[in-house]
Formats: sequence, C-alpha cells, structure tokens
Amino acid sequence: MSNTVQEKWDEILDFARQEYNISNVSFNTWIKDLYVKKVEDNTVYITSDNSNITSNFNHISTKYGLFIKTAIHEITDTEYDIKFENETDTIGTVSSSAASSKVIHNEGLPLNPDYTFDNFVVSKNNQLAHATALKAAESPGDIYNPLYIYGDSGLGKTHLMQSIGHFILENDPDKKVMFVTSDIFTNELIDSIRKGDASPAAFREKYRNIDVLLIDDIQFIIGKDRTQEEFFYTFNALYEAKKQIVITSDKPPKDFTTLDERWRSRFGWGIIVDLTPPDYETKVAILQKKLDLKQLEGNSVSIDNDVISYMAENINSNIRTLEGALTKVIALAKIQKTSVTKELAEYALRDLVTPNQKKIITPEFIIGVVAEHFHISPNDILSSKRDKVIAVPRQIAMYLSNEYTGFTTTKIGEIFGRDHATVIHNINKIKELRPKDISMDETIKVLINKINPDVE
Ligand code: ADP
Ligand code: MG
Repeated sequence: MSNTVQEKWDEILDFARQEYNISNVSFNTWIKDLYVKKVEDNTVYITSDNSNITSNFNHISTKYGLFIKTAIHEITDTEYDIKFENETDTIGTVSSSAASSKVIHNEGLPLNPDYTFDNFVVSKNNQLAHATALKAAESPGDIYNPLYIYGDSGLGKTHLMQSIGHFILENDPDKKVMFVTSDIFTNELIDSIRKGDASPAAFREKYRNIDVLLIDDIQFIIGKDRTQEEFFYTFNALYEAKKQIVITSDKPPKDFTTLDERWRSRFGWGIIVDLTPPDYETKVAILQKKLDLKQLEGNSVSIDNDVISYMAENINSNIRTLEGALTKVIALAKIQKTSVTKELAEYALRDLVTPNQKKIITPEFIIGVVAEHFHISPNDILSSKRDKVIAVPRQIAMYLSNEYTGFTTTKIGEIFGRDHATVIHNINKIKELRPKDISMDETIKVLINKINPDVE
C-alpha cells in the first residue's frame, strides 16, 4: 500500500497541478523536484535534493501542502498526512480544510505581456530574487512587505516586478494591481496639486484603493521632498492595510544617504534582494528564450548557435543591451535578405562589442573563477591533489593566469605553490591541447568570458 504513493507520485503531482491550476513557474520552482522519502504511519514524508526547495519548505507547505495532500487522497484512495522534511528537520504538517480553484483572466493593465515569470530565465545571479518575488506573488502582503529589488540597469528589475503583477492577477483577477514608474507617480502628484488640490485627496484615494503597488525606479523620487513625503504616506497606508508593496531601485536603501533614517529603514521592513549581471550560460539561455518568444510571435528566425555564443561572449554590459543586439542582428538579416551568420553578427554589433572598463585580473581571481566553473574549491586548485578533476582545472588556471594577468611564470609558480618548470610545463600542455581538443577549447573560451579580460 505505502509504496503506491511513491509509484504514483508523478500522477499525484500532475493531478495537483491540473486540479488547482498551479502555474508553470510555481510548479517548476517548488513542486516538480519534490519526491517521497518514505511512507510511515500513514504519513508521507516529502523531500527534495534542491536546496532552493528545502529552504522554502515552510512556504511550499503553506501554499501547496493541502493540494498535494488532497491529490494523494484522490489518486491513491487513501488519506495520508504529509510532512515536508529535509535531513535535519521536519518542517510543516498539513491538516485538511477546503481548497478553492481559480478562474484565470487578465485585467489588461499596462503591464508588458512578456514580463512574466514564465519568460524569466532563472540562474545563479537572480535565483534568490526570483524565488523571493515568486513567494511574494503567491502570498501578497503576507511574507515580504515591502519587497525591495535593486540592481544595475537592464538586469531584470522591471521584468521581475511585473511578473509579480501578472501572477497575482492570474490568480485573482479582482485584485487591483497598480504598476507605476516613479516619474508617473511624481507627475500625477504634481498634476493634482496644480489643480488646486492642496491635500491631493483624489491622488491619495487612488493609491490607497489598491491591493498591490509596484513602484519602479524609486531612486527618482528620493530627494524630491514633496513627492517623497507623499510616497511614504501611501506606503504607510498600504503597509498598514497589509497590501503588497514592491519597490525597485538602482541601489540598496542604505545608499540613499540623504534620506532620513526613519524613512530609509522602512524599505528594509520586508526583504531586500539584488540582481547581479548574468554569466555566460545565463546570457545564452536568455538569448534562446527571447528567440523562442520571437518565434511564437510568428517571426521565423533561425540563428546558429555560434552566433548566440558570439553574442553571449562579447556583450558584457546588461541584458537589455543583449536583447537589443539580438533585435539588431535579426533586423539586419531581414534587410539584407540573408541568414544570420557570425559574420553578419560581427558586422551588426561592431559598436556594441567594446572592451569593458579596466579591471585588474590576478591569478587569485582566475583561480576563483576556474574553481567555481568546475565546482571545486580554490583550495583544491592550490592543493597537491592529482586527480584529473582537479589537476586539469589547475593547469587551465595556470594557463589563463599566464595569458591574462601579466604576472611572470615565476610569480605564478609562487601563487600556485609550484616550481617554475611545472608551471611552464602545464601552460604548454594547455596551449598544445587547445587547437586539438574542441571541448577543451570551448571550456577555455567560456572561462575567458567569465574572467572578462580587457583584450578583444
Ligand atoms: P531593469 O528594470 O533592471 O533595468 P528590465 O527588467 O527592463 O531591467 O530588463 C531588461 C530586459 O532584459 C527586458 O527585456 C527583460 O525581459 C530582459 N531580462 C532581464 N532579465 C531577464 C531574465 N532573467 N530572463 C529573461 N529576460 C530577462
Ligand atoms: Mg526597469
């Protein structure tokens, strides 16, 4: 009996997904990788090997526990309790109560239809921000209020913020989601004051009457005394009413040094997360995602993989630039009525592919990048271990240090704790291998991109 739950697990999860309209992103992020560890005393113990999941068991249990429990009952015809557990701890238990299913339809707010969780590529550099945004969207006003997302331009802040709006509306079309940029907020306020409204009642009314406030690029409000004051008025009203507030900015709250501490600290009442620049693999995945989207829109574009890697390797600034590059390449191919080749991409992107600002590359930095890439530790590289999984990355790190740091081979030897002859031998070994071993060559190209040196 007990192993029926295990045997029918996929079916159970599928049933839960269908029956309760669990969105793709929620399913893929929280549920897909769950499995049954054991069934004992009429309890199904659920776990996962993914730490992003186990560290969020509380949330998953609250949001989806009942769905899973009910699905188990439906599919196996037996009622079980469920427990989410990782190795150290048993977290949530779920008891029965009624669950509701939802109708999905969109209000047609001025949200960009492409800025959804489904279209957001998740990777190391945005995983925490993504998981946090999703949790906020699943329990608006409840767990992370406000949610404050910061990062440089073009890294996905607006996309992530609007994903929350879409998600909430899909689950509950009656929710009033307000997305504003901070300049719209400012202009609306100025307008209402100009109309002779000394205390802008209509303005306040409008912003108090919503369920979710998404306010983009808050940095433009900070320092404008009247707007700032009005914003915090709105903030307080919404916060007290437990309405979800999402804020984006180009910097963390602590960097708003001119802002009064009593205001600044409010930004941190919920949670603060940041977005960092994408690595090579993420850039490739994003380009592919954007291509898929273009294809869905009916544009039959096909682009070779080497064009994609060329773009991912050479465009380092941000995702918006990367996307612009893709559009540009496709447009040029259309005009010239040719296919998208690497030559065409090189030509189209010649002014985008510019060296980044100078930075100092050291062997230590390279060791870090190489270690991370091969999922080993920098200490492994510096150790005397001879297994191939460590020796090869070590040789590559020496080679790259020689190519990109300007350090002498003697100095490199000191840092790696190896004698001069060994260093030379290892460097030459990789030099000889590169032209012969395509996959080695590819790996090194990716690493060079990760190191992102100033040379072309
Ligand atoms: P920001 O608001 O941080 O300046 P945006 O949210 O406007 O950046 O993102 C810029 C562009 O990059 C958008 O077209 C967005 O869809 C895209 N983008 C950013 N991050 C991702 C991601 N992780 N996956 C897919 N597209 C992304
Ligand atoms: Mg933005």
